Amino acid sequence: MSSKEEMAKLIQNYEQKLRCPLCHQAIHVADSSKLVCKNHHAFDLAKQGYVNLLNQPSDSQYDKKLFTSRREIITQTNLYQLLHQKLSEIIANHLKGRSGQILLDAGSGEGSHLEQVTGKQKESLNAGIGIDISKEGVKMAAGKYKSQMWFVADLANLPLIDQSVAVIMNILSPANYQEFKRVLEDDGLVIKVVPRAGYLAELREVLGKKNEQAYDNEKITSLFKEHFHIVDEISLTDQVLLSSEERAHLAQMAPLAWHAEQEEIEQFIERGSEKVTVDLDVLIGKRKLTK
Ligand SMILES: [Zn+2]
Repeated sequence: MSSKEEMAKLIQNYEQKLRCPLCHQAIHVADSSKLVCKNHHAFDLAKQGYVNLLNQPSDSQYDKKLFTSRREIITQTNLYQLLHQKLSEIIANHLKGRSGQILLDAGSGEGSHLEQVTGKQKESLNAGIGIDISKEGVKMAAGKYKSQMWFVADLANLPLIDQSVAVIMNILSPANYQEFKRVLEDDGLVIKVVPRAGYLAELREVLGKKNEQAYDNEKITSLFKEHFHIVDEISLTDQVLLSSEERAHLAQMAPLAWHAEQEEIEQFIERGSEKVTVDLDVLIGKRKLTK
């Protein structure tokens, strides 16, 4: 079976939870090659096995080089190992004994976080959906990770019906809380991963941005709390040794380093004997239910 047919089959099992991004009506897989709604809006399955649901190209500034670095860091280093373990555990607990459930990674990039979190649950009866506005990222995700569904779509217009998702992950990425609340089941979980003050402190230091993060983090956390009822909040801190090559990838993928001087990046890369700090907050929320 081709990647495209494989994906068509997978999507078919969950198509009742999807909706057309244009008219919001039900959508279904037709001829193993496209998604079609009753108003005849049609979206082709790409040969890599993803569907582009945007009717115009996005202006995402994330390119292939960045996603390649991101994949290197997420899959070949231990930088996010603690995070992946924790998320796997939380999600497995929540979905225990259930089937046909959707785990959505909102802002999935090239897909490695979703794969790492669900990879150990291969026999799972539930499905992962990765959504990102970057076609480049989604294409890479679909090219490698065949057991999840991948869509190019806008987080402000998720192609999912109301209350269709059991768990939403949103890892170090922008969110759309109105949409998250719409698609989340009544007892669904939204898991947001936010950087804490020490996150990549060694990189921040060479960039002279050491104090910026604490303030941003506070804003993100309080906004999350306005929208969701917090059920748990977990802080994860770790220190990881990265090779020069891995440090170069880290500087490539981290938005905070995009406008840095080459000299500063070199300085960071050369400090290979120092560990890099991972300092994250995992916010776990549920919908605030109105009576
Ligand atoms: Zn439609």
